[in-house]
Amino acid sequence: MQSMYLFVLILPILEYSLLGVGLMRKCFFIFMCFILVTGCTKKEKEIKTIIEKNNKTCVAINYPITKISKLDQEIKNTVQKRYEDFLEQQKEFVSISKNAEFNMDYTYHEIENRYINITLQSFSNSNLLSTARNDVDTFVYDKNKNSFLTLNDIVAKSEQNKLKKVILKQLQKHYPDCLLIDQVKENLSDFSHIHFTFDEENFWFYFEPYEIAAGYFEIIKISIPVEQIGLTIDISEGKTNKEWKEIETTTKIIDPYKKSIAITFDDGPSRYTNKLLDILKKYDASATFFVIGNKVEIYSDTMRRMVKEGNEIGNHSYNHKWLTKLNEEEFLSQINMTQQIIKKITGFTPRLMRPTYGACNQTLRKRSKLQIVMWDVDTRDWETHNISKILEQTIKNTKDGSIILMHDTKENTVLLLEKLLKELKSKDYQFVTVSELEKIKQIKQNEK
Ligand code: ZN
Repeated sequence: MQSMYLFVLILPILEYSLLGVGLMRKCFFIFMCFILVTGCTKKEKEIKTIIEKNNKTCVAINYPITKISKLDQEIKNTVQKRYEDFLEQQKEFVSISKNAEFNMDYTYHEIENRYINITLQSFSNSNLLSTARNDVDTFVYDKNKNSFLTLNDIVAKSEQNKLKKVILKQLQKHYPDCLLIDQVKENLSDFSHIHFTFDEENFWFYFEPYEIAAGYFEIIKISIPVEQIGLTIDISEGKTNKEWKEIETTTKIIDPYKKSIAITFDDGPSRYTNKLLDILKKYDASATFFVIGNKVEIYSDTMRRMVKEGNEIGNHSYNHKWLTKLNEEEFLSQINMTQQIIKKITGFTPRLMRPTYGACNQTLRKRSKLQIVMWDVDTRDWETHNISKILEQTIKNTKDGSIILMHDTKENTVLLLEKLLKELKSKDYQFVTVSELEKIKQIKQNEK
């Protein structure tokens, strides 16, 4: 693809350098410039993932990269600011704080191929100090106008008082016990600062609990149907509801008497996952991808390819929250939302799950209806750029029946996988999914 752009780029320059060009050539020049511009701007959006664990903190950050520079810059600044606030808070309590968690999740919704709606929801918790807090940031961006929209831009002046009343009524209905009415009214008085997003059916309004509620901790969120709001823009058409056809999977031949290993990838999908699928295909290998639910939809083609080519999908929570710290309801919602989106996009229903940060306990095992899968070989592919060292260690630790842990969010992993498969194939291994590995072990067990 890139070489095509290069080719297209050179042509207009050549044309331009030929002085005294005729009309045909001028037209050709303009046409080529057009291809260049449209070709280059047609970039797919992606999700940036940062997952880190050390002995003090666990950090999981997921946010969209839209390839619209103005919007991306604003998103990046916000993520950075929220994360720095967390680090600042950590510094304050450095001597006593441990097991601190920072989690940033997003929602993304684009309608009419014009309005991009994004929320960034951050959760931070220093644990011992009960300093848990939830924050929300919203972005509504008009692609045609290349600008951010506030409520003032899209709700007619004459309709604004009515909308304020509807919002207040909704808040009173859903949060009757904790609402500080005076604060709410003050908050609503400045329309340009209200956090909101919208989809084809509803407007969503978000309030930080510290601003308008007493003793409440979650983000306060209400919805109001689009038709109840006097809008200055048209968002009535074009409901998107993609229905996927069933995927035909490739048939595989597995020899239960051959040495077998299961390679697993956590924290994806990402922009690198397709490259990993290419390599797996090249070596006639299958793997298991423990994916994060909120990234599945944006990489839907990659997800479908995974299934089509005989790989297995596992559940790795919806937004990489620290699962052992959640109550049962929160835990089930993390798992079920991920199950639903994987099923919706690929038709595949995972039977395996891998706990986030590798943190597992009895409660988690009891709560999980999905089979929990850990690993015995950790490549630590996130830790170093020294691929030969990782490769050497991994090969040394791998044996028949091993489950290997990798991450499909790092460019390094692409290089590592190629070398690893080449090396292990020469040692006569076959590469299977976790479920296939279990079946192979079962067959061997039964024969004993
Ligand atoms: Zn993970």
